[in-house]
Amino acid sequence: MGAPDAASSRTDVYLDWAASTPMRPEAIETMVTAAQAGFGNPTGSHHVARTARRLVDDARDEVADVVGALPSEIVFCGSGTEADNLAIFGSQAHSGGTTACAAVEHHAVLHPVQHLGGAVVNVDSRGHVDLDHLREVATAELSVLSVMLANNETGVIQPLEPIRAVLDAQAPRALLHTDAVQAFPWLDLREAAVCADLISLSGHKFGGPKGVGVLVVRDRARLSAQVLGGGQEFEMRSGTHNVAGIAAFGTAARLMHAQRDSVVARVGALRDRLVSGLQDAVGGITETAMPAQADGAAADRSHKVAGSAHLCFDGIESEALLFMLERQGLAASAASSCASGAQDPSHVLAAMGYSRELAGGSLRLSLGFGSTGDDVDRALAIIPPCVDQLRTAAA
Ligand code: PLP
Repeated sequence: MGAPDAASSRTDVYLDWAASTPMRPEAIETMVTAAQAGFGNPTGSHHVARTARRLVDDARDEVADVVGALPSEIVFCGSGTEADNLAIFGSQAHSGGTTACAAVEHHAVLHPVQHLGGAVVNVDSRGHVDLDHLREVATAELSVLSVMLANNETGVIQPLEPIRAVLDAQAPRALLHTDAVQAFPWLDLREAAVCADLISLSGHKFGGPKGVGVLVVRDRARLSAQVLGGGQEFEMRSGTHNVAGIAAFGTAARLMHAQRDSVVARVGALRDRLVSGLQDAVGGITETAMPAQADGAAADRSHKVAGSAHLCFDGIESEALLFMLERQGLAASAASSCASGAQDPSHVLAAMGYSRELAGGSLRLSLGFGSTGDDVDRALAIIPPCVDQLRTAAA
């Protein structure tokens, strides 16, 4: 797709889809139509209000369908971050007890758990939860455990079934929350998240708008609301609905779900070509979270989402590389995107056992539903000379 419409005019190659995606044209169209027709307050009783309410309810049905939940289990809120916060604080506030999360969680989960003095569960070198450590943490007092379905830096998919089994055996009161913000574009949540009680989504990761999130709250789960007021969203999240944004979220979610299989196949092949092309062109690259493989064997990335390429370059500082790439018109990132834009050392790579030195040279190239072969060709033309130049300068 080259440059997303909304990107800076200097950006020709956009490889930061895990940070945010351009909105799909259909979602923009829905948003504009809904902003015009659905300006009423959905909580009212007259026909203008009812039109707005219908838009929200239609989106609720669409989201429920694609995640395998009931419409009454879909709670719209203001972002993926808010959904994560509601899951952690809301579970703990309802049942008391303790909280826990995996060490590789996004800060939207990690910080609430740390704020509540919760436990951080170790992971192995792939970023999968250490089940022995989880067995120590999963006591009868645990109110919520949060484990993300796909990691925003490495793209590693976390199988949830073994985690659920530990909770069922040792902490039957505990809710299992999964942050599926990065997983939804790539995985069918009706299967991959079927054993989770709470699931977070964010619109801007799959062609929907920013500032709209969803927390799926399964019927069996109980939470205390964290935003009080008019009692919207089944008393779980007060505040007048963002009708246009919610409607656009529904459209984008439906399209992502319908096209997922073909997107995964197409983009997965592009990602593989990108990684092997870089490995052929540049030495000293570590692809994170990869098992040792036999010489000549094709790399198996089935444990990662299809759009994710995460590499560490020996002898390179991420920040310097990103600066050079941006000057060449390529937008990518290193660790997760954060408010300051600063490149903090990655807590994800640290938890997986990578040295600070290696992690300091990480590059996240993330593809999405609009990525093209031309993006890969141009990335392969741009990145190797930049790496060579930086290494020569450092020598
Ligand atoms: N969780 C994960 C895994 C993410 O990647 C992000 C965004 O980068 C979030 C949560 C936060 O979502 P939002 O940007 O909608 O607040």
